[in-house]
Amino acid sequence: MPAKYKDYYEILGVPRTASDADIKKSFRKLARQYHPDVAKEKKQAEEKFKEINEAYEVLSDPAKRKKYDELGANWQSGAEFRAPPGWESHSKRGGFPGRGSRGEEFEFEFGGTGFSDFFEQLFGARGARSGSGGFQPGGFEREFAQERGRDIEGDIMVTLEEGVRGSVRSVSVRHGAPCPNCGGTGQKANHLCNTCGGTGQLARTDTYQVKIPAGVAEGQRLRVAGRGEAGSGGAAAGDLYLRVRLAKHPDFDVQDHNLVYEAPLAPWEAVLGASIAVPTLTTPVNIKIPPGTQTGQKLRVRGKGLPHRDGPAGDLIVVTRVEVPQHVTDPQRKLWEELARQSHFKPRE
Ligand SMILES: [Zn+2]
Repeated sequence: MPAKYKDYYEILGVPRTASDADIKKSFRKLARQYHPDVAKEKKQAEEKFKEINEAYEVLSDPAKRKKYDELGANWQSGAEFRAPPGWESHSKRGGFPGRGSRGEEFEFEFGGTGFSDFFEQLFGARGARSGSGGFQPGGFEREFAQERGRDIEGDIMVTLEEGVRGSVRSVSVRHGAPCPNCGGTGQKANHLCNTCGGTGQLARTDTYQVKIPAGVAEGQRLRVAGRGEAGSGGAAAGDLYLRVRLAKHPDFDVQDHNLVYEAPLAPWEAVLGASIAVPTLTTPVNIKIPPGTQTGQKLRVRGKGLPHRDGPAGDLIVVTRVEVPQHVTDPQRKLWEELARQSHFKPRE
């Protein structure tokens, strides 16, 4: 099933020559605008937020951006796209399109995971097989073999807020399922089944409610039992695994279970000290900026990072950055001039 080409540069509103800094800046602006927790049209914003995140995941990663750029600039957004030959070898598992256990080709398509089919084809784990359940009884004809369905794997994008609160997501998977007319045998009354043409399997889209537990971590695999590839000859189905990929956040960087937030300070706040409000993934907290704070100082707010399944939550690390006003009025300039005359501060000594 071909995917639709995604123009990640267009999505982030940057030229193909954009610098890493420009890409980050544009991502943060758009991600703030469309963050599902703040946008008014929540459902629409969520789709957009995930699209922006997908684009940023690719363009902010030099290796992924390079691979993406290798596709060339002539693709139109929305054009029918198939991964060029050789792409599979770049993904760790690869292995799609898959073969149903009866030899029928099935490509797995995921809906509701937050990643497009295009992303999954190029960078994702979609349709990867774990290779378990490969029980091949010798001496039997393949048509009569009982074989557990293989496990399938896809990626799921989880926002940091979801990671804190936990959530339930609706995920749909299009995959091969036993033909209801012949029960997966491919035969009906000693003839080839005319519903499935003798393959024993039909493509089917199933939608599952998947629980995202609070405290999920990047790369964690969520197991949805029995929702993988159908078994043959009445054997059990494989499992569906969803690999968690934490969405990038406009305000926070993630380091292990800690969140890093850069807090801009006015010069007088840095000199005199201040109490400022900083965002967290739930409600903002007030923190004390000590007098004489420099750019790059780190202030730790315990327990306001990401939850941890096997231990205490991570911390919020506030990194200060002193900013100066770019424009001053005449009276303000006089005050700064007066300060310059009075001060004994010599930053270069
Ligand atoms: Zn059939």
